[in-house]
Amino acid sequence: MRVNCAVLLIILLIASITGRQSQTGISSKTRIVLLGTGTPGPDPDRSGPATAIVVNDTAYLVDFGPGVVRRASAAFRDKGIAALEPTKLRVAFVTHLHSDHTVGYADLIFTPWTVGRRVPLEVYGPKGLKHMTEHLLEAYSVDIETRTNPDGNQRTFPQGHNVNAHEITAGVVYKDTNVTVTAFATKHAMESYGYRFDTADRSIVISGDTNPIRSTIDACNGCDVLIHEVHTPAALATRPETFQQFAGKYHSTTAQLAQLAQQAKPRLLILYHWVALSREELFDDMRARYAGLFVVGRDLDIY
Ligand SMILES: [Zn+2]
Ligand SMILES: [Zn+2]
Repeated sequence: MRVNCAVLLIILLIASITGRQSQTGISSKTRIVLLGTGTPGPDPDRSGPATAIVVNDTAYLVDFGPGVVRRASAAFRDKGIAALEPTKLRVAFVTHLHSDHTVGYADLIFTPWTVGRRVPLEVYGPKGLKHMTEHLLEAYSVDIETRTNPDGNQRTFPQGHNVNAHEITAGVVYKDTNVTVTAFATKHAMESYGYRFDTADRSIVISGDTNPIRSTIDACNGCDVLIHEVHTPAALATRPETFQQFAGKYHSTTAQLAQLAQQAKPRLLILYHWVALSREELFDDMRARYAGLFVVGRDLDIY
């Protein structure tokens, strides 16, 4: 009888914890917010590459293409993602230092600060990140000086524009109570990494820019979500010969991605940083090659 009471007590305790979780369920579940699905082309509907992994009301950014802070602000205002309120942006990972992935860096450093971020930004990425960071801070020295001097409007929290830049190598690069982040080397025109996020409820892999490579397959290996770049052959055929050669070495076609995804076996494949004649052309081309579940990413989609 005493045993039964103990069991009942445990069941009641679990029910009460589950009940509490379900009330706040939306905030405890890992979500992917596509902040920018674009490419270097300045398409007003597709911001530069930037993705947020949101866990327990904390956002972890991957890449900061142009428009990153305004898209985060839109996700907060229009989609109710509290973690993407700009002053809360404080951890970011960069896949590589191409401008389309980093033009929003100054925005990410300074905009949240001017509206109230009080802590330094923590940024992780390949060699050269520290150099880029130092130069950006130097480039904005007049702004920093005038905002933090005795007459300045940010003098009460002068740390908010600081950046701790961490240059990484492959392996676990970040860990806290929400997430473990593992970097893996990819194949692009410079030192580049993809990232795997492991949280309590999901495994998510993001490719950055890359040729199809074994390390992406191994990083996913049946993961919940693979977010991967892609180019359709029809779109590539419209580009200059030099870009076609470049893409052949450093990007992925739909045929290559289909083959990669068949081996990586993600439960969901999200296409981002996509180059195609149109969204429909990309969908049809991929559908013809890949039988698994996939979506063509759109800015501010949430998965
Ligand atoms: Zn690139
Ligand atoms: Zn790119």
